[in-house]
Order: sequence, then C-alpha cells, then structure tokens
Amino acid sequence: MNRWQNWSRLETAVPRVVEHPRTPAAVVALVERARADGRPVKMVGSGHSFSAIAAPEHTLVRPDRLVGITDVDRDAGTVEVLAGTPLHHLTRELARLGLALGNLGDIDVQTVAGAVSTGTHGTAGRVAGLAAQLVGLRMVTGTGEHLTLSPTEDAETFSHARLGLGALGVLTSLRFAVEPAYRLAATERVVGWDELVGGLHDRIGAHDHVDAYWFPGTDRCLLRINDRVADGAPAPSRSRGRVARWVDDELVANGALGVATALTARVPALTSPVNRVVGRLAGGTSYTEPSHEVFSGTRRVRFREMEYAVPLAAAADALAAVRRIADAHRVGFPVEVRTAVAEDVPLSPAHDRDTCYVAVHVHHSAVHEPYFAAVEAALMDLDGRPHWGKVHRRQAADLAPAYPLFDEFLAVRERLDPERLFTNAYLRRVLGV
Ligand SMILES: Cc1cc2nc3c(=O)[nH]c(=O)nc-3n(C[C@H](O)[C@H](O)[C@H](O)COP(=O)(O)OP(=O)(O)OC[C@H]3O[C@@H](n4cnc5c(N)ncnc54)[C@H](O)[C@@H]3O)c2cc1C
Repeated sequence: MNRWQNWSRLETAVPRVVEHPRTPAAVVALVERARADGRPVKMVGSGHSFSAIAAPEHTLVRPDRLVGITDVDRDAGTVEVLAGTPLHHLTRELARLGLALGNLGDIDVQTVAGAVSTGTHGTAGRVAGLAAQLVGLRMVTGTGEHLTLSPTEDAETFSHARLGLGALGVLTSLRFAVEPAYRLAATERVVGWDELVGGLHDRIGAHDHVDAYWFPGTDRCLLRINDRVADGAPAPSRSRGRVARWVDDELVANGALGVATALTARVPALTSPVNRVVGRLAGGTSYTEPSHEVFSGTRRVRFREMEYAVPLAAAADALAAVRRIADAHRVGFPVEVRTAVAEDVPLSPAHDRDTCYVAVHVHHSAVHEPYFAAVEAALMDLDGRPHWGKVHRRQAADLAPAYPLFDEFLAVRERLDPERLFTNAYLRRVLGV
C-alpha cells in the first residue's frame, strides 16, 4: 500500500498515486496530468514536518530522484541544487568544494525544498533562515508553467515563493547564496535561568550563534555558543575525536535524553531529579569543527514539537510564561530557545522583526495537546507566530493579522494555482481558501 507518514508519526495519508520524477521536465508533465484530471498533487520532502503540511490527498510526489548540485557560480557565490536534495548532501558537497551555507538548523536530513517551504531556521543574530538565503528558484505552477524566479526575474513572485508552504507550485531547483567554508568554535556550558534570560540580548550581540535548552523542573539551562573562526586563525579548541563526538551526539543528546524524556513522560513527578542529572551530564564541552558539522546533529529520540516566534523584545516574558506552563504540566522534555534576525520573507515567522524562537516538545509517548495549547495561547498573546512545519492550531483568520503580507501571498497563490492543485487540509485551514 502507498502509505505516507511523517517523522513524528502524528500524520498519515494513503495517496492514490505515487510519482518519482527524475527531471524537472517530468515534474512539468505530472503537474499537467494532475491538472487535466483535476486531482491534487503534493510534492513532499523527507517528512520531517510535525504538522500535516505535507499530507497528500491524491498524488504524492517523492523527491528522491531530484537530487544533486546542478551549478556552482564561484564569482557570484551561488549554488543551484535540485529540489529533493537532502541538506546533508548539499552541505557535504559544498564542503568538498570549499563552500558553505551561512546558517543551518538542528538537523540536516530535510530536503532543501521542504526546509525552505516551512521556514526552517537555525539560530543567529546576523544570518537569516534558509529561505532568506535563496537567490533564485525554479517552480512548476498550477497553470503548468515552469517559472524561473529571482530578485531580478519577477521579484514579487520570487519573494513569496521562497517560503511557499508548498501552496504555490512544485519547486524543481533552488539557488542558494554560499560563502567560503568556515569553522565554528563551539562552547557548551550549564548556566542558571536568570543568567540565560538576563544575558540573552548581550550574548546575541556578542556571538554569531546562540541557543539554549532549559531543563524543566530545574533552574539549569544548557547554553550553546558558536563563533566563526577567522580563516587561517588558530582554532581555540580541538576537533572532537570519534569517542567524544559519540558521547555528545549519541550518549547525551540521544541516549540520556531518550531515557530521561521517556521516564518523565511516564512518571512526571521525576522531572526535577531526572533533569538535574541530565543538566549535569550536558555542557562543559568546547570544540572547533567545520560549520556544517557543528550546526546539525542527529535526533534519535522521537518527539512532538511546537515552536513559536515572538518579537525578541518579548523573549523574557515568553520564556517566563513557558516555564510556568511546563512546570504546571510537569513536562520533562527540554525547551529550546533560539533567535533570528528580521527577514523580508513574507511568510517567515521572523518577518520584519528580530525574533526569539521558543520550542516546546514532548516525548512521542506523551500527550501533547494540553501543554501545547496552553503555550500557544500564552505566546499568541505576545504576538507569536507558529513554525509552519511544527504542531499548531492556528487558522487563516488569526494568522492573517500576524503577517502584513498575508493577503499578497493569497493573491500570488490565486494567480499561480487558481485551481488549488497543490492544496490539502492543512493549507485550507491556514490559508482559508
Ligand atoms: C527532529 C527534527 C528537527 C528539526 N529541526 C528544525 C530546526 O532546527 N529548525 C527548523 O526551523 N525546523 C526544524 N524542523 C522542522 C523541519 O525543518 C521542517 O518541518 C521542514 O519543512 C522539513 O523538511 P522536509 O524535507 O521533511 O519537508 P516535508 O515535511 O516533507 O514538507 C514540508 C513542506 O514542503 C513542501 N515541499 C517539499 N518539497 C517541495 C517541492 N519540491 N516543491 C514545493 N513544495 C515542497 C511540502 O509540500 C510541505 O508543504 C525539525 C523537524 C524534526 C522532525
């Protein structure tokens, strides 16, 4: 049976048809067929959205044969890549070419098209999320056209198509701005809550990338700072050996976290003692490695996540509210705190404002609804915007006022996909049409 399921196992669908196009021309042909039949078609990435944004309703298009770099322009500092390319494939190929992306998220198994389409971001006070790193793209629209878009080729459509929620067309290739490969010096240490919250603004100004995890039921936070090491400068710390990397990535980030979050999901009363131990295991590390190896790790603990973007000025209020709610719900799973610089991407949660991202999680065996609903209500009050690829319950009526260019996005969609070839239940909810 053709079954589609997302990584978190929250969403499942059974498409009638599954396609694996090998070329952009094959994408054009399958969109034409879907159009003639009047059947919806959904290109998916690697299924790492927690929301039902990628759920197909008739034809599922798999990305696995649209993979690889198709052009490198060293003079312009850009690279074109096919839409189904996993981020780890892109970053390793770039490293081989002596190049790198300016920022990345926590993991790198998403496809490039899936990642930009939901606003995937890392943490940084200077470099924006992946959609904002695009300088061009190609896309098959619901009227069967294969458009080439960039800041100089239909700039308005390009601007919206960078983060299109899969609603405007099927992306066939993306062109990213790249830079010479660089190393990051990473330091991780445990700090108290007041030091994290009180020092957040200063740290964002002083460092390239700052993020943190707060361990519920405790006062402990794991603060992670990554700074670029100037070309040719001596590395401030050594690269991790295989064993040290295994301890960080597998034992602490996955092994201990898996045991702790499963245990606290089952016995919430253990949240404080267990998280004190996890907080003690974490931190105290520093190392210098190529940027893509520092940005992204592996996530073996299966969880459910909601993430909200609030104005950076509201970060302390947002974090205080989330702390109260997590403790009241006796949730053990760490809360992640990241920041983003204001972006011009119309549907980016960081659109037009410096942003603090607050992500709440539960172990996959736990019930997430009451906790997420309480956090969502509190962060909506602070003008929060949800991550499009993570769990949330927002609808068009309350999303439209949160995005100054929401109506323009709908107008672009009306023009590019008048018959709603690319729609699904999620898009009908968040876009309202
Ligand atoms: C463990 C884990 C860690 C994560 N870490 C981060 C993080 O650090 N930062 C962050 O911001 N997010 C993070 N996410 C969320 C994730 O990055 C996004 O949900 C992303 O969209 C997933 O990419 P994907 O390739 O799996 O796309 P999917 O989830 O499969 O699809 C997402 C959307 O992209 C559309 N799409 C895919 N391909 C195309 C195409 N060719 N043309 C048009 N539309 C297309 C789909 O239709 C759908 O609308 C994480 C998720 C998980 C499970």
